[in-house]
Amino acid sequence: MHDLASYAAHPEKTRGRQHQESPPQGRNHFQRDRDRIIHSTAFRRLEYKTQVFVNHEGDLFRTRLTHSLEVAQIGRAIARTLRLQEDLVEAISLAHDLGHTPFGHAGQDALNECMREHGGFEHNLQSLRVVDHLEQRYAEFDGLNLTFEVREGILKHCSVKNAKSLGEVGQRFLDKTQPSLEAQVANLADEIAYNNHDVDDGLRSGLITLEQLKEVRIFSEHLKLVQKLYPNLNDRRLIHETIRRMINSLVMDLCAQTAQLISDGKPKSIEDVRRLPPLVKFSSVLQQQQLELKQFLRANLYRHYRVNRMSAKAQRTLRELFEAFTQDPGLLPGDFQQRTQSDIPRAVSDYIAGMTDRYAMKEYQRIFIVSEREL
Ligand code: MG
Repeated sequence: MHDLASYAAHPEKTRGRQHQESPPQGRNHFQRDRDRIIHSTAFRRLEYKTQVFVNHEGDLFRTRLTHSLEVAQIGRAIARTLRLQEDLVEAISLAHDLGHTPFGHAGQDALNECMREHGGFEHNLQSLRVVDHLEQRYAEFDGLNLTFEVREGILKHCSVKNAKSLGEVGQRFLDKTQPSLEAQVANLADEIAYNNHDVDDGLRSGLITLEQLKEVRIFSEHLKLVQKLYPNLNDRRLIHETIRRMINSLVMDLCAQTAQLISDGKPKSIEDVRRLPPLVKFSSVLQQQQLELKQFLRANLYRHYRVNRMSAKAQRTLRELFEAFTQDPGLLPGDFQQRTQSDIPRAVSDYIAGMTDRYAMKEYQRIFIVSEREL
């Protein structure tokens, strides 16, 4: 591995794990965390969870799994350039969406609404809950017992109220300090990944068109360049050549701006990084262009009537499942029934959040539709 910067997160200096364990052999702490994440059940479920398009709508759309892999790829490239700890960025990236509900943001909104009187639902916090409590694989503890640094990176946002109940990992939301640079990188790699792949998936689905995207500066600049270089390119290649240039320009810009902020802020250690303002940033020009692209996607893709229809169905499905299970916890599978002893709504919320899109649809059928072929 390349020479780590002094302000990177050094695995041998980790703040450690919640449960005592012997140190890893043949790999560092963050590599062990990455490996645990990849082997978790929640990670495999990402394959069947929606990003924007529901899994059955087409085989080529991103899922939460391919999204997470793209985030890790982009994040690692940035980490290498900035001499940050690549394994930590990878572990955070692969885990960052583990707490997502089925049916993307529509699902999360519905579950949050259902949980309003019971502490709410937030996918970020749920990702931490998955790695801290919900995975059941190890003899000596619940969860994956990850290092502080990976857990801190997973918890991107947090309300003050929730932060107070989380102990060490919530402390920075009370102190208003920053996480490691690796966590900051994973966060922006997420943005780069979804903005770009949503353009690609949006075009593939036909819900947005090349013509419309010409209004978006960051897209049209690269598009013109590609058209000039290759005047006879078919649309598929044209789109990919444009998107790969957009990703590259964002990554290069982020690295240059961040290197500048690091040289101005002069952090010597990760402790300095925590005290300084956020150092991983785009330049103001690209920040503005990213924002413009986001607004375009919100108006034209995420709120397209065909996406709205799917979202409405998804929300109805989750709401009705939530109601049915909270009113009669006897409908829950055995291990979740046990958990209802302490907190019924939270146990139901954990059960629903863990579902894949198709599992939620099947469960809906099993709960509400009487059929000849009962299981
Ligand atoms: Mg994400």
